[in-house]
Amino acid sequence: MKVLVLNCGSSSVKFQLIETSLDAIERNADEIISRGTIEKIGTDAAPVSCHPAGAPPLRQEREILDHETAVHLVIELLSEGDTAVLSSPDEIDAVGHRITHGGEHFDHSVLIDNKVAGVIRECIDLAPLHNPHNLKGYEIANKLLPGKPHAAVFDTAFHQTIPPEAHHYAIPYVLYERHGIRRYGFHGTSHRYIIFRTHQLLGRPRDKTNVVSCHLGSGCSICAIRGGQSIDTSMGFTPLEGLVMGTRCGDIDPALPFHIMEKENLDVYEINNMLNKHSGLLGLSGTGNDMREIKEEIERGNKRAELARDVFVYRAAKYIAAYMAMIGSEVHAISFTAGIGENSPIIRRRIVDRLSIFGVELDEEANDSCIGTERRISTANSRVAVYVVPTQEELVIARDTVRCVEGKT
Ligand code: ADP
Repeated sequence: MKVLVLNCGSSSVKFQLIETSLDAIERNADEIISRGTIEKIGTDAAPVSCHPAGAPPLRQEREILDHETAVHLVIELLSEGDTAVLSSPDEIDAVGHRITHGGEHFDHSVLIDNKVAGVIRECIDLAPLHNPHNLKGYEIANKLLPGKPHAAVFDTAFHQTIPPEAHHYAIPYVLYERHGIRRYGFHGTSHRYIIFRTHQLLGRPRDKTNVVSCHLGSGCSICAIRGGQSIDTSMGFTPLEGLVMGTRCGDIDPALPFHIMEKENLDVYEINNMLNKHSGLLGLSGTGNDMREIKEEIERGNKRAELARDVFVYRAAKYIAAYMAMIGSEVHAISFTAGIGENSPIIRRRIVDRLSIFGVELDEEANDSCIGTERRISTANSRVAVYVVPTQEELVIARDTVRCVEGKT
């Protein structure tokens, strides 16, 4: 089955065309046929990239003023011209959509019908920056590919197993009842892929595998996984909570926003913007939000960049330690993924150095040489295995789409 995976954000569309089936899932034999991105939607010079497997990639700038044009272009790139991998759009069998927020309504992926689309619309309240674009992606693709099945794969679904003591905030309960205010967690599709691969790498049954999954990208979250299920995660009602991220502050004293608003004369929009877009690595270092830039600055002797790195590492290690304790029995692995987790041996080493009390020991050579590949990076003596597992969220979405279409969710 050829599944188009669509991830429609506020100003970008990412896509992959994946050949998969229940049998291919079983054999781990899915195939990426093509993938690409369209960024800066709404401008006359939107960067477009499309990389068909085994063929040269296309990179160009195009005028793309809205999402409809962008999704239309995705289908065109797949079926026309030098990048074509299909003889007609009709060869697309199904579409899988990344949907940010499913609230408490969805603990697994579903086929989208009018009722499901209505519930995703209701969840806009919970994710006003993401769900409207995800939903728009579905509406446009549904119009352009009439009659094809569409599946919704939610970023929050994996975390629906988090128990009440971990998902409630200690604020008046009525706010949960009225507005659904609780911890939802995000990056669920990525953490699900990490437990899926880690239990295979360990050779243990998934329901008997305990893992701390560390998704360290431009957005960062850590997930405590016991018996294959999420029991806690660092992002909360929004993706702002938890770790230090590229531009997000993560955990702060909840009274701070009021104090800063008063001192700096900021309104609600401005403080929200500051904590989401001007904090984290960027805010602390004053130079950049990218860990590669931070590393270069440290090498130049920049003390604020060093501080940004240290706060990032400390917070990550603190969450891992807390989650190892909360898992409550043997932790079989700590797995690192996403941009920083996959590509930065130095950050991994600094985090793991703080976990020596748990008997976690890195194999320095394995860690140093592991960049963007799947590998065990701990010593044979380490009490907990440490892995690097490149995440594949699109693959999870394609596989879930197949399962939904085949009625096997
Ligand atoms: P997103 O959350 O946008 O999907 P990614 O998982 O692609 O992000 O992670 C992007 C981030 O990964 C970059 O902002 C950068 O901080 C980090 N990164 C990527 N490559 C490296 C590298 N070689 N060394 C350190 N950090 C890296």
